[in-house]
Amino acid sequence: MRLIDGRAIAAAIAEEVTAAVTALRGAGTVPSLAVVVPTRDEAAAWYVRSLARAAAEVGVACRIDELDEPDAAQLAKRLDALSGDPGVHGIVCQTPLPNRLRLEEVAEAIDPAKDVDGANPHSLGRLAAGLPCFAPATAAAVLEILHREQVGLVGARAMVVGRSTVVGKPAALLLLAEHATVTWCHSRTRDLARVCAQADVLVAAAGRARLVTSAHVKPGAVVVDVGINPTADGRVEGDVDAEAVAGRAGALTPVPGGVGPVTTMVLMRQVTSAAAARA
Ligand code: NAD
Repeated sequence: MRLIDGRAIAAAIAEEVTAAVTALRGAGTVPSLAVVVPTRDEAAAWYVRSLARAAAEVGVACRIDELDEPDAAQLAKRLDALSGDPGVHGIVCQTPLPNRLRLEEVAEAIDPAKDVDGANPHSLGRLAAGLPCFAPATAAAVLEILHREQVGLVGARAMVVGRSTVVGKPAALLLLAEHATVTWCHSRTRDLARVCAQADVLVAAAGRARLVTSAHVKPGAVVVDVGINPTADGRVEGDVDAEAVAGRAGALTPVPGGVGPVTTMVLMRQVTSAAAARA
């Protein structure tokens, strides 16, 4: 089994984005990302730090907007203000949200032209309709990896385990747009292993450590592990039991070092595109 090097893919994207940012800066536009952080959460704080690092690496300006447990109206007001701010090109609203809010409910306040993480339901609708839009960066990263690894998708059987608005749904829509035959699996899917074992491309995005074992994997399949599951000893592991599938899968993205670094760089590329569209 081949381990897919997400860090190398991220480095290749970073090189392209840096060139685009340099050109934009030369023409007087500094691509700028605003990250709204509405609650204190350790995993979110870790991700926001990695966004700031990635932004610094490619020359994107990044500002972190911390809010103290806002309600829906307060959060929407802040997103609306950033949408109207000409100095901001991309907006991310970091999850989890406080007060039982769903991202889908407040993200309508993000201008679709600045919705670089595809959080506004309008963006997901455009994705489903095959119209230009920003897809959620994680879902776009899955496709980026498959493209860069030259995985044939036309007519391939693709299974996506997970149906969240930020990962599973958009990943499946992107695979469909590439002419894969797509099946969505989720927590109510019967006999998950039997269904997954038909997949040429298996995308695991359930948030359940070691859910995917060798029984779920067709020999030679390409497995993309989106899961990030913290362990008791402070590490993270994916949704795929890497050791168990090693003798069966054709290729696998590791955790860490797979989808994660590609996601942050795809996001930087989307901020840069949003800035270029306004330059
Ligand atoms: P979520 O909890 O919103 O959705 C999980 C989905 O998995 C649900 O649709 C659910 O039906 C399905 N599911 C749960 N248990 C299942 C089971 N036993 N069998 C089959 N399906 C099951 O999570 P999410 O926000 O979509 O994130 C999924 C995972 O991806 C998490 O581990 C998250 O940390 C990770 N993630 C990674 C990145 C990245 O950049 N690598 C970005 C976002 C999320």
